[in-house]
Amino acid sequence: MRLRLVFSRSSDSSSCAAICPKCGGDRQEIKLWQVVEKHVNDIVCQEVKVYRYMCQQCGHTFRVYPPGISRAHTSQRVLRTAVLLYLMGLGYGGVARALEALGIYMCKSQVYSTVRETLSNRPCRRVRLFGRVRSHGPCSGKLEVQYRGRWVCLTMNVHSTGEWALEVDGLLPEEGAVLAQTLSPLASTVGAVVRVEGEDERAHPPGVAQWNDRCVG
Ligand SMILES: [Zn+2]
Repeated sequence: MRLRLVFSRSSDSSSCAAICPKCGGDRQEIKLWQVVEKHVNDIVCQEVKVYRYMCQQCGHTFRVYPPGISRAHTSQRVLRTAVLLYLMGLGYGGVARALEALGIYMCKSQVYSTVRETLSNRPCRRVRLFGRVRSHGPCSGKLEVQYRGRWVCLTMNVHSTGEWALEVDGLLPEEGAVLAQTLSPLASTVGAVVRVEGEDERAHPPGVAQWNDRCVG
């Protein structure tokens, strides 16, 4: 039994070049000024293009980032994943170790500040579903978390549409629905939805080829 926590791209924040953020000048006043490469700490893409615009009305220059990227070095995708892992019961250090195994570096203090900042305006009760984390080293893709006294596998998959998912494998058939119900409010806090996948669906799932394993054990 597999449980999939799917993050939609639609809830990513993104900047828009339609108006000047300083004077409100519209699209006709805004001209492209420069395109720069930005290195980001992300699961899928480590280099993005950032567009700098100038407002001809007031002279203000501003940057427009791709969806899910902001001024911060770490992408929204990684930040939301970190918060969800914390809400599912991992400690700050556990979240950092889990992300490291998936190929993402975030130190414990960064996990702490991200969780505090995200949950300050979106209060959500943390549920200690998962306990200890067992990884096989940085970027090994091999990550297990303890659930009800045994180890279950946690992986990260990316969809061709840009959606990405945290997946929990190795659940007993009777555990999937119960866990999904518990996880739903936690997932919605970070813009994710929960899907339960049975053995039959895994054998012939529609469109499953579009899910690409990344850093998966
Ligand atoms: Zn302006």
